[in-house]
Amino acid sequence: MEEEGKNKIIIAIDGFSSTGKSTIAKQLAKQLNYIYVDTGAMYRAVTYFALENELIGESFFHEEELINRLPEIHITFKFNEELGFAEVYLNGENIEKSIRTLEVSRYVSLVSAVSEVRQKLVEQQQIMGKDKGIVMDGRDIGTVVFPKAELKIFMVASAETRAQRRYKELLERGHNLSYDDVLENVTTRDRIDSTREDSPLVKAEDALEIDNSDLTIESQLDKLLKLAQEMI
Ligand code: C5P
Repeated sequence: MEEEGKNKIIIAIDGFSSTGKSTIAKQLAKQLNYIYVDTGAMYRAVTYFALENELIGESFFHEEELINRLPEIHITFKFNEELGFAEVYLNGENIEKSIRTLEVSRYVSLVSAVSEVRQKLVEQQQIMGKDKGIVMDGRDIGTVVFPKAELKIFMVASAETRAQRRYKELLERGHNLSYDDVLENVTTRDRIDSTREDSPLVKAEDALEIDNSDLTIESQLDKLLKLAQEMI
C-alpha cells in the first residue's frame, strides 16, 4: 500500500531481547511501504568492530580506546532485494551475518551501555527518521530516539519463549550452541540493558504493551497495521 505524500508517521517498537520485534517491524514496514531500521544491528556493528580490533574480550574492555576510535566507524544499510530487507554494513563491508553470533551477543550490552556510542548511533537514527515513514526497533526508540513517535509499541514475552525462539534461529543458521547458553545470554542482556544508566530499556509511558508469548505473527501484524492505519 503506498502511503507517499500522506501523513507519514514514526513507529517505535521497543522491548526485551528476542521478542520478535524485528520480524514484526520488517513486515509492518513492508505493508506500509515504510523504511525499516534495526537499531540493534547498529550496536552489534560497533561491538563487531570492538571485537575485530581487540578492544573487548573475555576479561577486558578498552572503553576509552573504543570511544577515541568511534569516528572510524561508519554504519550503513543497503536493501537486499532477494532477502527483502536492508543489510548492515561496517565501513563498506557486509557484516549482516557476522553480527548475529553469540559472541557479538555476549558483548553487545557492555558496548551499548557506553554513552558516547549511544550518542553517535542515536544521532544517525534521528537523521534516518527525519522524514518519518519509518519503523524502527530497539530498546530506546520510544523514550530517547523519537519520544514524539506517533505509535509506540513495547513488546514482551516470557524469557523461556524468547530464548527458545533465539535458539531455534541460531540453530537454523548453523550455529552450534546449547539452549542454556542462549537463555543465559538473553537474561543477562535484559538485565544490563534495563539497568544501565544511559537510556535504560523501559516502556515509554505512552507505549502500548503487547505480550506476544501466545500470539501468532499474523495476529500481531494485523493488530499493529490497524493501529498504524488509524494514526495515519
Ligand atoms: O535487538 P538486538 O537484540 O539485536 O540488540 C542487541 C543489543 O543492542 C541489545 O541487547 C542492547 O544492548 C543494544 N541495543 C540498545 N539500544 C537499541 C537497540 C539495541 O542498547 N536501540
